Amino acid sequence: MNKKPKIHILATGGTIAGAGETSVGAVYEPGKMNINDILKLIPAINEIADISGEQFINIGSQDITATLWLKLARHIRKYLASDEVDGIVITHGTDTIEETAYFLNLIIPFSKPVVLTGSMRPTTAYSTDGPANLFNAILVASSKNSIGKGVLVTANEKIFNAHGVSKIATTHIDAFADCSYGPVGYVNGADVEFQRSVKKIHTVKSVFAKTLPKSLPEVVILYSYAGINTMLFDACIKAQVNGIVFAGTGNGNVPKPFLSKVKKAREKNIHIVRASRMLRGEVVTGELSDEKLGTIASGALIPQKAKILLQLALTITNDLLQIREIFKYY
Ligand code: GLU
Repeated sequence: MNKKPKIHILATGGTIAGAGETSVGAVYEPGKMNINDILKLIPAINEIADISGEQFINIGSQDITATLWLKLARHIRKYLASDEVDGIVITHGTDTIEETAYFLNLIIPFSKPVVLTGSMRPTTAYSTDGPANLFNAILVASSKNSIGKGVLVTANEKIFNAHGVSKIATTHIDAFADCSYGPVGYVNGADVEFQRSVKKIHTVKSVFAKTLPKSLPEVVILYSYAGINTMLFDACIKAQVNGIVFAGTGNGNVPKPFLSKVKKAREKNIHIVRASRMLRGEVVTGELSDEKLGTIASGALIPQKAKILLQLALTITNDLLQIREIFKYY
C-alpha cells in the first residue's frame, strides 16, 4: 500500500477561521477558530493524508504585512526542507490570498506542493465553504500532479496558479478567477485534475528563491481614474519611494499631465510599472511606449502582484532593462 503523504497546515486566520453569533447571520469575526477545530469537521481527510496543523497567526488578511510574509516564507522553507513534510496547505483570509500566494510562488525554492485556501463564509455558517475548501486544498497538496506546479490557490472546486488568480467578488462564494486564462485545474470529487500548465517562472527556478531578503523596498500602487490629478504621484516622488505601480486605464494608460512626472520620477531612480485597472488581458506597448517613457509594462500581472514583483526585483537589481526582462518571465 502506498504511504499517505504528510501534509502540514499553516493556519493564518481569515473567514475560514471565522465565527458568527448565529449560523445564518452575515455578521462574524474572522480569525476566531483554531485550525485543529476546523480539521475535526472533515475527518475523512485522514484517509487521504497524515495531517498536522499549526496556528501560525490568526488575523484578517487585510492585516498581513511584508514582515509576516517573510516569516511565513522562512517557516515554509524549513518544513519543506524536511522529509517529514510532502506538502503545505495554508489557510488564509481571502482578501489578500492572491498576494501571499504570488509572493510565496516567487520565494519558495521547492517543487513540493504549497496550496492556499480560504472561505467566503465563516465555518460556523450553514452555507460555509470553509471545510470543503480545506478538504480540497489537502487533496490538491497530496496529489503527485501538483508537484512542480508552483504555489496554488484552491477555492470552490477550482485550482488556480498564483500568477493569475484574483479575488473578484466581495461576498459571493464563487469569488476567485483567473480572468485572463482561467483555472489551471479542478477538484472533481476526490480527483485532482490539471487542464493546463503555466509558463511563468516560479519556485525552484525563481531567482528570488535563492536567499530571503530581510525586508522589501517601498513600492506603492496609484489607481487612475478620469480627472485624476498628480497630487499623490508628486507626493510619492517627494517621499522617494522605490517604485510606483500605476494602475492605469485600459492598456496601462497614463494621463498627459503625468508624462513629465514619470520622467521626473525616473530621474530620481524611482521605477514605474504601467499596470491596469482591468482584470483581463495584458499591459503591452500600445498608445504608450515603455522605451520612450522609461517604464515597465506589467503584462498580465494585476497591480497588487506587479507591486510584489517590482519589490522583489529591486532586491536584486536597479537596472531598468533587467527589471523589464523579469516582468516578461515571472
Ligand atoms: N477580511 C478577512 C480576510 O481577508 C475575511 C475575508 C475572508 O477571509 O473571506 O481575512
